[in-house]
Amino acid sequence: MGEFDLIARIRARCLPRPDVLLGIGDDAALLHVPSNCALCVSVDTLIAGVHFPRDTAAYSVGWKALAVNLSDMAAMGAKPMWATLALTLPEPDYAWLDGFLDGFFALAQAEAVALVGGDTTRGPLSITVTIHGLVAAAKALRRDAARVGDVIAVSGTLGDAAAGLRIDQFSASGGDHAYLRSRLDCPTPRVALGQFLAGRARAAVDISDGLLADLQHVLSASGLGADIEVDALPSSEALREAVVNPHDRTQLQCSGGDDYELLFTLSIEAWQEVCAEAERQAWQVTVIGRVSADTGLRLWQDGKQKALPDTAGWNHFGDSS
Ligand code: ADP
Ligand code: MG
Repeated sequence: MGEFDLIARIRARCLPRPDVLLGIGDDAALLHVPSNCALCVSVDTLIAGVHFPRDTAAYSVGWKALAVNLSDMAAMGAKPMWATLALTLPEPDYAWLDGFLDGFFALAQAEAVALVGGDTTRGPLSITVTIHGLVAAAKALRRDAARVGDVIAVSGTLGDAAAGLRIDQFSASGGDHAYLRSRLDCPTPRVALGQFLAGRARAAVDISDGLLADLQHVLSASGLGADIEVDALPSSEALREAVVNPHDRTQLQCSGGDDYELLFTLSIEAWQEVCAEAERQAWQVTVIGRVSADTGLRLWQDGKQKALPDTAGWNHFGDSS
């Protein structure tokens, strides 16, 4: 079994589509880009032992490799369309590849993304997906577009994935550990929400490095600051039960990575529109603060300013109150 058998196995799972003029099999793909849209392109690499635990199931690796890229499309307000897949495998392993493709295509089909090409090589396990999406350029959600007075909101709940990764540190028994781990392994990119926000929200970013780190990207790009209400940060029931110490929970919500939720800023009027649609679509969205002309990031709880959680590392967990 060689490279071409692996490629054939991948190709067999791709369905024809009118916007894919030429897919897997030639030197490059040919894609139909409508004239009224900008092409929105992003790439992310996942390396075993760095971006996912080595014991992660093949299905989850396939799902997550696409999910992190779809999350970038969502954060731009773009509709994801076409993906390429550069796959480096330690050995040609059909069983692993099939599991990987099950996860990858489960999400690709759910979001109508076509796999149109890639590269297959031998080496330490690593996966690089490039995603191509479409968005009207004027409606794209850029990091530099926040304005003073904007509401700051997030999708979903925060801190679950970070808790899932370090569950032994926090909980012997409490909470739904499988749920927390699934938030780490199979994150849900907020693709439909992102497209709804295009042209409505001002700035957006997806939360991959942790809430405060990613919010800081928006604030730096926009030259502004923010006030965040700690008690407003949305948490899952599983997180509250697994991590009973409120200090640890706040740390996870503020600094834990791999959430792949959206953080966005918008006017009050736009927020009301988003709330109405969120109710129709059963999206969870929560206001957590406001954009301010005073640069810097301030956390508030019970009307008092709180020290920023330590974002430098995980070793310090549980050291302070
Ligand atoms: P080339 O030598 O021209 O780069 P390859 O032999 O690498 O071509 O790939 C042959 C075809 O298979 C190309 O269309 C390429 O895009 C596709 N391909 C290779 N690896 C993958 C992969 N992992 N996923 C999807 N398509 C792939
Ligand atoms: Mg090639």
